[in-house]
Amino acid sequence: MPIIVHKYGGTSVGTPEKIKNVARRVKNIRNKGNQVVVIVSAMGHATDELIDLMQQVTANPDPREYDMLVSTGEQVSAALLAMALQDIGCPAISLTGGQAGVHTEDIYKKARIKHVHLERLEQELKAGKVVVITGFQGIDSKGDIITIGRGGSDTSAVAIAAALKAEVCDIYTDVDGVYTTDPRIVPEAKKLEFISYEEMLELASLGAQVLHPRSIECASIYGIVIHLRSSLKEDEGTLIMSAKNIKKT
Ligand code: ASP
Ligand code: MG
Repeated sequence: MPIIVHKYGGTSVGTPEKIKNVARRVKNIRNKGNQVVVIVSAMGHATDELIDLMQQVTANPDPREYDMLVSTGEQVSAALLAMALQDIGCPAISLTGGQAGVHTEDIYKKARIKHVHLERLEQELKAGKVVVITGFQGIDSKGDIITIGRGGSDTSAVAIAAALKAEVCDIYTDVDGVYTTDPRIVPEAKKLEFISYEEMLELASLGAQVLHPRSIECASIYGIVIHLRSSLKEDEGTLIMSAKNIKKT
């Protein structure tokens, strides 16, 4: 059975209605005979709100406790999405990064993902469930929760897609693709069908905050095509892939 990996960003799971919309989308894909793994960000601005709370308690947070705190946003959205799926008759389970076997370096707040142990994930997929995984976090060698840098859920999704040997990682966001120029500034901006990893990294270095830069690096190392698209439309977005494969198409 083909494995489909989707990632939904904060705006795409920002309200209960939007979570239910994602659940319907995911259920349809599963019912077409696919195994589906979903990585989620925290709802809306939940992570910023957690940081705001923290700042009201201390100006010098301990990095370990920072990770304990900010990783909780994703747990909320993952559990709610699993419940929304179950509610419409789609078997589903949510897993934290650690439960899903996402192992990181022993560095609080900005670790890299070292490897993904697939045992639990594969067991749940085999049992016919959609697996919803919290983005942005994993565990270190001590079993502590570690986060991987702001915006890191994209990288969680690509790393999990790579471990599962999926060819494509669909990243659903609030823009419907990559544009030649910013469509909010230049109205005639055109959506690109393809863009290479290198060009996408360059855009990221120029300040485009569409994707976490490490997700692009990880995709280029493992040859994963990132399909950046909108969770509100059915249209195709932009494929981020190797320059070599773009030439072939
Ligand atoms: N929720 C985290 C953040 O706001 C991670 C992410 O959204 O990718 O940075
Ligand atoms: Mg993001």
